Amino acid sequence: YEETLALIKPDAVKAGHTGKIIEAVIAAPFTICAIKKTMLNRAMAERFYAVHREKPFFDDLVQFMSSGPIYAMVLGGESALLRWRELMGATNFEEAAEGTLRKRFATSLGRNAVHGSDSLENACTEIAIFFSRQEVL
Ligand code: ATP
Ligand code: MG
Repeated sequence: YEETLALIKPDAVKAGHTGKIIEAVIAAPFTICAIKKTMLNRAMAERFYAVHREKPFFDDLVQFMSSGPIYAMVLGGESALLRWRELMGATNFEEAAEGTLRKRFATSLGRNAVHGSDSLENACTEIAIFFSRQEVL
């Protein structure tokens, strides 16, 4: 059993894809252990993506991620981390497999609809950014 952090990014929320993404989460299936609608400010987005601080796309990424409401979810299940990354599809939506969330909903490399933790260690850190331990059930 694992838990991972999933985000529905501002582009997908704005475009009205939240319901379809949550349906895919439930159908997969994952347990939704926690969910909230929230918005990152600049400082929070910088902290969330601290590992990418040196990348050329960092400023755009922070600007985009703080540009509107997002949904944060803790998804639980067997192999939840890898299974959620599989459901998201490749970072670059042009390389994402048919049926994946990024294939369905991404509109550019940056505006790629969803986020998922990339390791169990990072999942733990990322979950703590959005949720207290009592909120994850
Ligand atoms: P995420 O961390 O959002 O789940 P990921 O793990 O698939 O996505 P990362 O390599 O962690 O991809 O990059 C984080 C995010 O930064 C990507 O989801 C994408 O939105 C953006 N990004 C990555 N590479 C580029 C790039 N070359 N140009 C613009 N944006 C990029
Ligand atoms: Mg990542």
